[in-house]
This record gives sequence, structure tokens and C-alpha cells, in this order.
Amino acid sequence: MTATTLFYIIISILIISFILDKILDALNSKHFNDPVPEELQDVYEDAEYKKSQTYKKTNYKFGLLTSTFSIVLTLGFLFLDGFEYVDNIARSYSENPILTALIFFGIIMIGSDVLTTPFSYYQTFVIEEQFGFNKTTKKTFVLDKIKGWLMLAIVGGGILALIIWFYQFAGDNFWLYAWALVTVFTVFMNMFYAKLIVPLFNKQTPLEEGDLRNKISNYAKTVGFKLDKIFVIDGSKRSTKANAYFSGFGSEKRVTLYDTLINDLEDEEIVAVLAHEVGHYKKKHIIFNLIASVLLTGLTLYILSIFISNPLLSNALGVDIPSFHIGLIAFGLLYAPISEITSLIMNWFSRTFEYQADNYAKNTYKAEPLISSLKKLSKNSLSNLTPHKGYVFMHYSHPTLLERVKNLKL
Ligand SMILES: [Zn+2]
Repeated sequence: MTATTLFYIIISILIISFILDKILDALNSKHFNDPVPEELQDVYEDAEYKKSQTYKKTNYKFGLLTSTFSIVLTLGFLFLDGFEYVDNIARSYSENPILTALIFFGIIMIGSDVLTTPFSYYQTFVIEEQFGFNKTTKKTFVLDKIKGWLMLAIVGGGILALIIWFYQFAGDNFWLYAWALVTVFTVFMNMFYAKLIVPLFNKQTPLEEGDLRNKISNYAKTVGFKLDKIFVIDGSKRSTKANAYFSGFGSEKRVTLYDTLINDLEDEEIVAVLAHEVGHYKKKHIIFNLIASVLLTGLTLYILSIFISNPLLSNALGVDIPSFHIGLIAFGLLYAPISEITSLIMNWFSRTFEYQADNYAKNTYKAEPLISSLKKLSKNSLSNLTPHKGYVFMHYSHPTLLERVKNLKL
């Protein structure tokens, strides 16, 4: 195979996946105006339903615009040998492979951030604002950006530097060291994410003593679940959309409720949502996801190790001096179809787990309050009640509201 062939394989992968994605989006948008299913008639009032229709269409058009911009930019960058250009800049600052890689990715990240920030600004302050979701101030938006950059530089930069260092002394066996590193990091993050990262972006306080806390404790006791770490997070600082999630395991397991969730739902509904989260824990979904992600990382790193030393990867991107960081970019582009497939499989598992957690909540608590909470949450986020089957299959990590309600009513 020649570098030119490989270059065109990369281009084809980009274009084909873009087209497939757009076809799916278009199919999904064709169903925006489908009649609302019988079981979901009570989710929206007429005026709100109209609003949700507009919201879906606005997001669809905006998504089309941003993804088109991004594909044109990526293709332009590839055809104009952008990676070679940035690589030369990075090399002019340092001969050291680790430093070169850090400068290289630094430039790519900053460049892409500068180009995409106007879009995320528009999404937040125009679209979300228009539909009444946005609570983010410009100050929070800027601070979030800066914190995100710093985290990426420290964590991403640190991990990248270590991996290249492994490659320098272990050659193709680097993947074993890299895998060990990423695994330790993933497990650590799973344990301490809520303690270390969340406070950088949000305030979280223990759920205060009172009715709600007692109801939650009473439920937890009936299923023999130790649930003393219940936190409330100020999600309302950024958006009116509500959420709840479970994180950590062992002694670090905790439940986090958005303050917006507490405002939107009745106590019984909140307990039902928590029962669903406890279901995820009891059915070992959290451990499953962790192990699956560790195994997938290992597989990806192993495949990377087979190809990374081949100069063809760098040459395909128009770079004559092969290097780990250019090889990594080419590999990432070539690997995209495989990661599409793995994410499809993970989404399938995730949807199956959602049913299991729903059933757990139904069997150990009640179905009715979970149904009404799901409906309220859908209404408050103006979510799509009539998505296309293919779109759900590809993109949804949760079953549709209709599927969940039907299952809970069984
Ligand atoms: Zn769930």
C-alpha cells in the first residue's frame, strides 16, 4: 500500500461516515411531526409541544451547519497538508519527541477550540437561551473554558507524555504500560471524580435532613442498600435541564441529584429515580461498564501498537518524518469505523441496562412515580417523543420514552 492510497482511505472514511450520519439525521427529522403515541399524550400541552417541535428543528439545522463546517475544515486541513505544517512548527521548537508531541497537540487543540467556540457560544446563548434553558452567565462560560483547557493540558498532556515515554523505552510493547496507566487512571477517576473534578465546576452539598432524605433512606433500607452519600449539585447554575447520577463504588459510592431535579419532581418521583440508580448499582452495570471500557482501551492500544511503528501512517498525512503523534492522528482517523461499531454495541448494552434498572425500580418501589418523573423530565428538556428507529439504534444510550413507559406499565 502507498501513502496516497492510505490518504484516500482516510478521506473516504470521513466522507462516508459524514454522509451516513446526515442520512440518519434527515430520517430522524422526517419523524418530528409524527402523531404523538397514545401513551405519551399527557407529556406536553399543545403550546409546549409546538415549542418542542421548533426546538428539534432548530437543533437539527444547527447540527447540520456545525457538522458541515467541521467536515469541510477537516478535509481542507488534510488536503492542504495541515498536519505537516503544524508538525514543522512543533519541531522548530524542540527536537524532543515528547515536547514536539505536546506542542503539536497543543496547537491542534487551541486551533480547533478557537474555531468551534463561536458555535458552542451560539448554542448556549442563542438557542438554549431562546427556549428558556440557559442559566449560564458569560463569566461561567469563560471560566468553564479555561478550566477545561487546564484540565486537558494537565491530564491529557500528562498521559500523552507518559505514553510516548513508554514507547521510547519499550517500543511496540508500550501498549501494555499505556494500558496499565489508563486503567489505573480510569478506576481512580471513577472512584474520585465526584470528589476531585465536580467541585471545580459545581457546588455540591449533602442533601439536607428532612422529608425527602427520610423517604430515600427508608427506601434504601428496604433493598439493603447503604446510601448515606446523597449530594445536591447546583445544576441550575448552567441550565434548567435536570439530571441524577450514580458514581464511584465501594465506600466512595454516592448519588448526585441536580437541584433542578429536586425542584421539578415530587418526593416520590425522586425516590423512584433513585431506585432506578440503585438498580444500576445492584445489577452491576457500573462495574460492567468499567470493565468493558478497560478491555476496549486495551484492545485499541494493542491494535495501535501493531501499526504505530509503520511510517506509512505519518506519510499518509503528508509528513515525511514519522512520529508517534502523527501516527496517532492517522490511526485515530482510520480507527473511527471500529469505534463507531464499539459505541453501537455499548449503546445496545446501555439501553438493555436501562430497562433492567427501570424494572428494578418497578419491583422494589413503584412504576407510577418513575413513569411520571420520566415524562416530566422529557417535557422539561423538550425532548423528542418520536425519534426514528435507526437513529435510536445508532445514537441512543437510553430507550425512548415510549419504550420505557410501555415496559414500566407491563
Ligand atoms: Zn439509568
